[in-house]
Amino acid sequence: AKLVMLEDMRRALDTTLADETHDATDGQAPALQAPAGRFHLLYQPKVDLRTGRLFGVEALIRWRHPEHGIVPPMRFIGLAEESGLIVGLGEWVVRTACRQAQLWRAAGLDPLTVSVNVSARQFEEKRLVDRIAGALRDTGLPPCALDLEVTESLLMRDLNQAIERMRELKEMGVTLSIDDFGTGYSSLSALKSFPISTLKIDKSFVRDLASSSDDQAIALAVISLGHRLHLRVIAEGVETVEQRDFLLANDCDEMQGYLFSPPVPAERITEMLQAQQRQ
Ligand code: C2E
Ligand code: CA
Ligand code: CA
Ligand code: CA
Repeated sequence: AKLVMLEDMRRALDTTLADETHDATDGQAPALQAPAGRFHLLYQPKVDLRTGRLFGVEALIRWRHPEHGIVPPMRFIGLAEESGLIVGLGEWVVRTACRQAQLWRAAGLDPLTVSVNVSARQFEEKRLVDRIAGALRDTGLPPCALDLEVTESLLMRDLNQAIERMRELKEMGVTLSIDDFGTGYSSLSALKSFPISTLKIDKSFVRDLASSSDDQAIALAVISLGHRLHLRVIAEGVETVEQRDFLLANDCDEMQGYLFSPPVPAERITEMLQAQQRQ
């Protein structure tokens, strides 16, 4: 079953890439739903907690399988990593996200940052920095508009190499965020040497924020740790007004979650940005 899935995934990546070289849309508006057998990206808004402004999006991959319908990333990213397919797939994600972010800029909408998830295998690849530089160059997106989300466990696999790679990316102007913060175990001294700009509080700590004093303690600790290290702090998985109010009252900077919006197609983000500009 794994082999079949891997074959399907390879084919989907080839088809997705081939569509682009043939310019499948032919000047027409792209379909809201990607055709079957392809990958596509959804974008989830990141919002400034204090002002409520949409300032960024996280790109999240989806696979539309010809028979099984939409396959969530949890079901295929692991296999893509194991097989090495993640390198090509990840490059497609970076290029697609950069191209989309540049389209929003060119349309004169409020400039957004676009965050892309980078997995361990991708991060360990020597050419990662070149690939990202190439995506930025080819799309024209300013490097400061690209943010990479990496997990603590990824960084701890080879600490020195990870720090070196992060420095190169930072020098290029790309920002880095630690995803799922608190679920892995990076030592606090390692955290100090990471050239990052944002800590993301994992959604497992946000879920029971209104009722669990333990989760409140963890959220408060991450916010104050982040701020002491001059980092911004974002909470993911914010679903309720109570969670948002707690985070706002306790000085968290940004939020992401179903309360504001689930991940949506690029066209919906365009509409949100247009509405925001009319305000
Ligand atoms: P993640 O990076 O931690 O992404 C957050 C996940 O939480 C996303 O699931 C998102 O749809 C979901 N989410 C957003 N708001 C809420 C909320 O309010 N409540 C709840 N319960 N969930 C919310 P998704 O899209 O299924 O992605 C799952 C994971 O797959 C991601 O976790 C990330 O680790 C990985 N992933 C997604 N896209 C990519 C990609 O392009 N490349 C790589 N390497 N990994 C990806
Ligand atoms: Ca993420
Ligand atoms: Ca997460
Ligand atoms: Ca995750």
